[in-house]
Formats: sequence, C-alpha cells, structure tokens
Amino acid sequence: MLTSFFSDAEVKAAQELINQSNNVVILTHMSPDGDAMGSSLAMRHFLEAQGKQVAVIVPNAFPDFLAWLPKADQDIIYETQRAEADALLDHADLVICTDFNDPKRIGSLGDKLLTLPCKKMMIDHHLHPASFPDLTLSYPSSPSTCELVYRLITSLSPISNSPQGVQYPIPNTQEIATCIYTGMMTDTGNFSFNSNYPEMYQIVGDLVSLGVNKDEIYNRVFNAYSADRMRLMGYCLYSKMRIFPEHHTALIYLSRKELYRFNFQSGDAEGIVNLPLQIKDVYYSCFMREDKVNPTEVALAGGSKTKIKISLRSQGNRPVNVFAKDIFGGGGHANASGGEYYGPLPEAVQLFIDNYTKYFAKE
Ligand code: 5GP
Ligand code: MN
Repeated sequence: MLTSFFSDAEVKAAQELINQSNNVVILTHMSPDGDAMGSSLAMRHFLEAQGKQVAVIVPNAFPDFLAWLPKADQDIIYETQRAEADALLDHADLVICTDFNDPKRIGSLGDKLLTLPCKKMMIDHHLHPASFPDLTLSYPSSPSTCELVYRLITSLSPISNSPQGVQYPIPNTQEIATCIYTGMMTDTGNFSFNSNYPEMYQIVGDLVSLGVNKDEIYNRVFNAYSADRMRLMGYCLYSKMRIFPEHHTALIYLSRKELYRFNFQSGDAEGIVNLPLQIKDVYYSCFMREDKVNPTEVALAGGSKTKIKISLRSQGNRPVNVFAKDIFGGGGHANASGGEYYGPLPEAVQLFIDNYTKYFAKE
C-alpha cells in the first residue's frame, strides 16, 4: 500500500472534473520527452477506459525513440495539424495539462489554451505552477509526472494499491503501466537520480506486475539511437566539450551548421548534457544548441533570428535552477534546468562564461 499522497479533496475534485466531461484534450510540453509522452498517454488510456473521447495534442514532433508508446501515433502535432487541434480544443469540456507548469512551455498552443472557456486541470512536477487551471496537482517533490499520474489513477480507480489479489477492471491496464514506467525511467535517468526512496520501487514492482516489460522499454528508449545521433555525441565529447576544472563544470555547444552535419532530428540532443557528468569531479554540465526563431516567437526574440536552447544538469546539492533563471530567464528543477537566449550562439556562450563562477561552487 502506497502512502496517501493527494489529499481527499484533490482526488474528489479530479474525479468530479472527469465525471463532468466527455471530450477531453490532454496537452504536454514542447519537444516532448519520455515523461511528457508517458504522462499524457497514460491519462489518455485511463480516460478512454471510462468511455471518454480523448485526444492528446503535443506542440511539436516527438522523438522516434518514443513513437512505439501505445497510441503515440495518434498524437496530434500542433505545429503541423493546427486546424484539427483547434477544433478539438474548441469542443473540449476538459483540458488536462501534464508535465508542464506554464502556458509558455507549450509555445503558441499556450495562447490558445488561455482562451478556452472549458475546465482545466494540471498534473505536474515543476516549481511555480501558473494559476490558470481549475485544479492544480503540482508536486515538485515528485521525480516524474508519470509517478503523479500513477498515484492519481490508483487513487481514482480500483487498478489501485497493490497488484496482490486486486481486480483490474480497466481493460488497458498494461498500456497505462507501460506509459507510466517510461516516464519514471526517463526522468530519473533509468533510476540513477532523484530515485532514492523505497516507494518508487514499490510502484515499479506494481507496474511490472501489471505487465510492464522494463527491459524491453529500456532497449526501446536507450538502445535506439541512429548512427548520426551516436556520432553527434562522439563529436560533442571529442571536439566540443570544454572543462572548467576549478568549478567542476563542463560546457558543450552546437551551432545549427554542426547539427545539420549530423542530420539532426528531434530528440537527438537528448542526453548530451548528461554525458560530462560521467567524468570524475565534474558536477555541473551545460549544453547549448542553436535553433531558429519560429514565427510565434518573433515578438519575444526582439529581432534575433536565432534562439539558443540551454540545458543545465548537476549532481547532489548543487542547484542549477537559480543560474538558469537569473542568466537565461528559465528555471526548472535543482539538478535539471534550462532556459533560452534570443541572440547569436557566441553571446550565449560568453554569458555562461561570465557568470558560471558566481553560481557553481568551487568546493
Ligand atoms: P531540458 O534540459 O531537458 O530541456 O529541460 C530540463 C528541465 O529544465 C525541464 O524539465 C524544465 O523544468 C526546465 N526548463 C528547460 N527549459 C526551460 C525554459 O526555457 N524555461 C523554464 N522555466 N524551464 C525550462
Ligand atoms: Mn517531467
């Protein structure tokens, strides 16, 4: 039996929102990762089992290594299927936002979201949730949104509690469990960070009992790189990684030209930021990638044609989210944050170099 997590009032409010709705749209964040895809699709399967009409809309394309997730192929991509997505949103009586805390994290889909008159519910684990939802289930202490979805689903339905001797009336339990496990695995780096408490493994045990094949999921997600992606990683480590030993810091940055050289696909940069942390005595890592400003961001970009996407990671009690917020207007978790910079890549690099020593400990 898991310790209770959501309050009775939260579970009741979630149940009421679901009971009152027939057409549900689930949204998740830009450049969806395993937790975004897993949490949105798990909710989809759970609600479909209760007879709801459900669609998942993602702001832009999801990576290939997540395309096998059950019903991922039915996700609607806002960037390319806008009319269809807008029609679904206009007819929704409930929108559920998973794995993001702010409309800004879903690009132009965020502007649409804020115009909708329907009820909205957020399930998320990022700090400082925006105030637009009617119900906010925000628990930044949770390592993944998928774990929150598991806890919510088991509080709402008899899939619950422990697999031992319990009836599972939901027909697509295995799909739900597979989606949830995927996000728990990816947001903890295959249970290598934010993963040091027993209940997480109780949940993993429950999910395996419900039919999750964890070894297969690992292979599908982590052993599914293209040769180009593997070479891009090699290039980053061999030619692009700078180490600042005094502050235990590594920096890698890539221009669009370099990305083209390796036939860059959505998701290919995932995980590059974590690589330098495998080096002894490197505790902080920053990865920057140049991107183009898309039409919906022109106002934000202030004339710049380039946008730099910044990823930060750290180990232990060495937060990087304050640096992300102060220097790159972003934020995130203590050990995994990010931000954006509108301007040329060398400027963003210089900004990093001018400021990291003030934020990253010498020890
Ligand atoms: P990633 O490096 O995987 O893109 O992002 C890691 C985490 O940093 C995300 O889960 C999110 O919490 C945070 N993050 C990334 N980019 C941004 C950003 O532009 N703004 C804010 N507020 N947070 C971000
Ligand atoms: Mn997440």
